[in-house]
Amino acid sequence: MLRPAAERREELIALFREAQACTRCALYETRTQVVFGSGNADADLMFVGEAPGANEDQQGLPFVGRAGKLLDRLLEEIGMRRRDVFVVNVLKCHPPGNRDPQPSEIDACQDYLLRQVELIEPRVVCTLGNFATKLLRADITGITRLHGCAEVRTIGPRAVRLYPLFHPAAALYTPRMVETLREDFARIPELVALPEPPQPEPLEEVPEPELAIEVAATREREQLGLF
Ligand code: URA
Repeated sequence: MLRPAAERREELIALFREAQACTRCALYETRTQVVFGSGNADADLMFVGEAPGANEDQQGLPFVGRAGKLLDRLLEEIGMRRRDVFVVNVLKCHPPGNRDPQPSEIDACQDYLLRQVELIEPRVVCTLGNFATKLLRADITGITRLHGCAEVRTIGPRAVRLYPLFHPAAALYTPRMVETLREDFARIPELVALPEPPQPEPLEEVPEPELAIEVAATREREQLGLF
């Protein structure tokens, strides 16, 4: 069941506030600010990058540097704007010196990403580069093999069409990669237009232990016709 957009948006804002105060890994000591993500909180299309760079760390917004300009151009070429989509990263804080995210940092941060997907309810999630692709596919297969291959995957409680793409930063210096990225981008509108993949059954809420005992006892009494 889809939840009302306004309710999901409020929860996303609450999650943003929670992330702003996050100290789950050591990156909080060196960040200027948390880069939670930005865009349309009810977007059908989400992009997941790697980690904020130095510009993003300064501005508090994802993909504001050169890679972001390329992302904007590729979106424009398929008739979309940044405000139509939601853009996030695997890590919400800038790793000093732009080093690769560490496994412990990804681990500490991934709950934010899963909750973002749950609250935004996108149909299509484009992973940009290896880190996002490997994390959301839970597999070590690299982006060179997977780019442009859409598949249905479950992220947290939500089934989406996952669509791996080369990272725009990697394409900046390789014109051929920009061409590949452009060709892969061209398929995004048709993926977004596909019917939503069937959603998994929601997990039944497990009652608190004492409550569970009470519920079990009530059932027993009912079965015994004790009322
Ligand atoms: N690269 C990323 O992965 N994310 C950004 O926000 C900027 C550059």
